[in-house]
Amino acid sequence: MTAIILDGQKVANQLAEKLKIQVRHLSRTPILIIISIGNNPENKIYLDKKINRGAQLGIKIKVHHLAASTNERSVIDLIQHYNQDQLVSGIMVQLPLPEQISYYHLVRAINPLKDVDGFNEQNVGRLWNGDSNFIAPATPRGILSLLSAYDLSLKGKHTVVIGRSNLVGKPLAGLCLAKDSTVTLTHRKTTNLRKITQIADILVVAIGQAQMVDQSYVKPGAIVIDVGINTTAQGLMGDVNFSAVKEISSYITPVPKGIGPMTVISLLENVVKAQKSQELG
Ligand code: NDP
Repeated sequence: MTAIILDGQKVANQLAEKLKIQVRHLSRTPILIIISIGNNPENKIYLDKKINRGAQLGIKIKVHHLAASTNERSVIDLIQHYNQDQLVSGIMVQLPLPEQISYYHLVRAINPLKDVDGFNEQNVGRLWNGDSNFIAPATPRGILSLLSAYDLSLKGKHTVVIGRSNLVGKPLAGLCLAKDSTVTLTHRKTTNLRKITQIADILVVAIGQAQMVDQSYVKPGAIVIDVGINTTAQGLMGDVNFSAVKEISSYITPVPKGIGPMTVISLLENVVKAQKSQELG
């Protein structure tokens, strides 16, 4: 068996066309503020992807750069300034951050209606309460949009997620549960990890360990989603050994052009959703 490739780039382009139309019908240009602290070269790569896609869609992205030595209080003051600005649709903080700044203190300061990353506690709580009116984090939502684009249902399926981060694993578990999947969330302390992954209908890997997951982790015919982005001497790699796993899985995401572009488009969808809910009051 050779897997069908879940082409995140192609699906993201299709979703972009739909989003462009929605943007045209808004009463004003959506504005996303990205707060970027310090001079991490990785930040620039991720920022450029968002800025370029935003420009294609008519979404204005303003990056507010701050020095690496900035203190947390002044970033919170800046967030509060943008919370008050009626023209700003969404606010997000670009990771990674310098040591003296807590990501969660910043996210807590963002108005939940402008929290386009969906990490503010109000949005997290709404996700787990099954409330339909919330902003869900972009990467997990991008994964579900990609599965949906290929008509792959989660209902009744066993989804195993490796990685329990607040950014990916945990919110993904909540979203899969809401889609009637049976979910197992695993991590470094999980014993007999392979035994668990080998019974997954859908295996999602978000660990940050280049190519760790090979065919021995995968049930033949499973759907495999690779979230990982690892910069190695051999270039960009996912957490899954793509060439080995594609031979036994039914569907698989590549890295790059898998979940990366789906995350960017999902974030911009969140900006439009945020603006619409602000317009409704
Ligand atoms: P974190 O480092 O925050 O979390 C990693 C998780 O993986 C932890 O829960 C950790 O377990 C678990 N883990 C690590 N190694 C193992 C292992 N050997 N066995 C089992 N579990 C393990 O990472 P993120 O969730 O933020 O990101 C994960 C990956 O996804 C990274 O490569 C990141 O770059 C990428 N990413 C890609 C995005 C995209 O758009 N494609 C978006 C966001 C992230 P424990 O909790 O026990 O430490």
